[in-house]
Amino acid sequence: MTHNRAIAERFAQMADMLEIKGESIFRINAYRRAARAVEGLTEDVAALAARGELTNIPGIGKATAEKIVEFLRTGTMKAYDELAATLPPGLTTLMAVPEVGPKTALLLYEQLGITSLDALEAAAKAGRLRDLPRMGPKTEENILRGIAMVRRSAARRPLGVALPVAEALVATLRETREVDAIEVAGSLRRRKETVGDIDILVTSRSPERVMEAFVAAPPVAQVLSHGPTRSSVILDVGLQADVRVVEPASYGAALQYFTGSKEHNVALRERAVRRGLKLNEYGVWRTKDDRRIAGRDEAGVYNAVGLPWIPPELREDAGELEAAEAGRLPTLVTVEEIRGDLHVHTTWSDGASSAEAMATAAKALGYAYLCITDHSQSLKVAGGVSVEDLRAHAAVVRRLSDRLGIEVLMGTECDIGPDGALDYPDEVLDDLDVVIASVHTRFRMSRDEMTRRIVRALETGRVDILGHPTGRLLGARDPYEVDIERIVDAAARSGVALEINASPERLDLKDTDARLARERGVRLAVNTDAHAAAELRHMPLGISVARRAWAEAADVLNTLSPTALRAHLRGRRGARRRR
Ligand SMILES: [Zn+2]
Ligand SMILES: [Zn+2]
Repeated sequence: MTHNRAIAERFAQMADMLEIKGESIFRINAYRRAARAVEGLTEDVAALAARGELTNIPGIGKATAEKIVEFLRTGTMKAYDELAATLPPGLTTLMAVPEVGPKTALLLYEQLGITSLDALEAAAKAGRLRDLPRMGPKTEENILRGIAMVRRSAARRPLGVALPVAEALVATLRETREVDAIEVAGSLRRRKETVGDIDILVTSRSPERVMEAFVAAPPVAQVLSHGPTRSSVILDVGLQADVRVVEPASYGAALQYFTGSKEHNVALRERAVRRGLKLNEYGVWRTKDDRRIAGRDEAGVYNAVGLPWIPPELREDAGELEAAEAGRLPTLVTVEEIRGDLHVHTTWSDGASSAEAMATAAKALGYAYLCITDHSQSLKVAGGVSVEDLRAHAAVVRRLSDRLGIEVLMGTECDIGPDGALDYPDEVLDDLDVVIASVHTRFRMSRDEMTRRIVRALETGRVDILGHPTGRLLGARDPYEVDIERIVDAAARSGVALEINASPERLDLKDTDARLARERGVRLAVNTDAHAAAELRHMPLGISVARRAWAEAADVLNTLSPTALRAHLRGRRGARRRR
C-alpha cells in the first residue's frame, strides 16, 4: 500500500499548490478527489493498474489515471515536479496548520519569506504575524496551537498513550447503544509499542448516529471527514482515529484485514489462494463459484484457510502461521495470571505513595504479593536508601504482610556500578527477598564495556531480576549500547530473570528481545516499576509485550504462586550459600 500513500500525497500537494497559485477550482477539486480516492483504497493501486481498472475508481479520471501509471512506472510525476518548481519548497507544509489556507501561505511567503513550520513558529512567537492583513494576536495564538498539533500528529504515539484513549472512544460509542459489535483494529490491537493511528470497526443498524457520537466524542480535536459509514478525526493526543461501520456478514473479515500486519495478511492471502480461495476485507470466497464461505467472525476466516484463530499480538509473519498450522500456537500469558508485582518504589526513595498504600492498592488488584524495591544507596538523585534505613524498612514491611493480608516482600532496585559491582554489601543483599539490579548512571559506554558491566553484575549470583535491561525511554532516550544476546546468555547461565518493565515510557525489554530471551530459556518478570499506587495499573502494557514475545504463563516469574515464588527465591539463595 506504499504506492497509495505516495500517490495520494502528491495529488493532495498538487491541489494545494494549484490553490496557492489561484488556479481553477475544478482542477483543484479533481486532484483533491483523486487524492481521497487513492487514499481510501483497500488494495494496492498497482494491482488495480495492472488489471486496467484505475478509471473504474470513483474520483479517478483519465488524466489522473495516466499520472498514476506514470508514477508506478517511473517513480515520478512530471506534472507534479513542474508545478513544484514554480513555488518555494515547503510552502505547502504550512497549509497543514488548520489556520493557514492557500492565501495565507502565499502571504506569509511574500511578506515574510516564511516557507517552513519552524520559521512560521518563530514569526508567531516574535509577534510578527499580527500586522499582516486579516491577522491579529489571536491568529498568532491559533497558529502556534496548530503547529504543535501538526508536530504531534506526525509522530507515532506510545501504546500507553493510545490504548486508554482508544478504550475511552470505544466506551463512548458503546454508550450510544447503537453499536452491536465494536473492536479496535490495527497495530493497536496487535499491541505494538507505538501506534500511528487508531482504527475502530463497528457493526450497527444506525451508522449515522454512531458517526455523530464519534465526531462529537470528548477527545476529538479536529474532524477530518464525517461520512455516513466512515469518519476520521484528529484526537487531542495528536493521533488520527477512524471509525468505520461494516456489514455484520463482513465484520470478521474486516477485523482480520484491518488488524494486519501487512506481512501477516499477505502470507494469509497467499495461503488462501493456494487453497482455491480468495480472501479480502469482505470475506473468504471460493474462487470456482465466487461463493462467500466466511467473513462474519474472525475465527471463521482463519478456519476457512485451515488454521485456528491466531492472537493479534502474534500477527507479524514471524512464524505464527507455521505454528498455527502445526497446532503449536502458544497459550499466551494473560494479565489475570499475574499474581504480583515485583518492582515498585515508595516514599522511602523517589515514589509518591507509602509502602502501606502500595500494598493496599496491590491487594485491591487481587495480587497475592508485592515486592518493595526502592533505590539503593548511591543513587542519591532518586533518594537511594542507606543500609541502616533499608534494615529499618524491612522490619516495617514484614509487619505489613500480617496486617494487610497480602504478602509484602522486601527487596531493592540495586544500582549496577560502572564496573558491574552491586551497590550493597553481599550480606545486606542476602537478607532481602528479591534483588533487582539496574543501570541508572553512566549510559555512555562502549557496547563491549556496557555488556561486560551487566554480565559481571549478573554473575555475582546475587541478582534475581535484571531491571529495564536496555535503559530506553520510548521516544525520549535510545537504549544504551549493549549486546543483548550476551546478556540473555548470561541470564540463562545464572538463572536471572529479565524484566519487561511495564512503565508506559519504557516497555523494556522490547518484544523481539523478550522473545529471544524466552527462546533461550530465560524467565521474564513483568513489573510496573510503579512510583505511585495508581501506576500499578500499567501491568497490561507489560503483558502486551510479553504476549508479543510469545510468552506463556510458565515463562513469567510473577505468575508463580506465593509459595512457588518463595521456594524459587530461597532456592537461589541456598545455592549461593552452598557454593
Ligand atoms: Zn530503575
Ligand atoms: Zn525502578
